[in-house]
Amino acid sequence: MFVSVPEHIIKTPDNLAQGYGTAGINLDALAYVEFGDIDGLQEFLFHNAIQHRVFYETMMRRGQATPDYPLFDADPKNLDDWLLLHNQQHEAVAKILGLDNPFQLLDADFNVEDDFYDWIGVHQTIHEQIAAALGVT
Ligand SMILES: [Zn+2]
Repeated sequence: MFVSVPEHIIKTPDNLAQGYGTAGINLDALAYVEFGDIDGLQEFLFHNAIQHRVFYETMMRRGQATPDYPLFDADPKNLDDWLLLHNQQHEAVAKILGLDNPFQLLDADFNVEDDFYDWIGVHQTIHEQIAAALGVT
């Protein structure tokens, strides 16, 4: 399943490089999702992928090449593959920017409520750290 992207969001690298892409970034949007809410999870996945795209483009402009995993490609009902790729993306970004990457995404079980909320909370903090390091708001 591909996370749906609203028409008005411009997400190609060229357009992001021109500065349009940041229109879709909303760090708070990573905090709203509730356990068991598939629609909310879909929205979370979308905002997360948008932010990773902006981080990627910003880092490329700074000469900090990172991998670019297909984070828009996610099935909210089975996120095992996505969790793996997303973790690798975060590890690469944290290493380049010299940030801690304190969460081990692969140890979290999204079917366990406490795990889910722990992951969501720490992940949002990490996105805030990356955004601050890159000067993206
Ligand atoms: Zn992320």
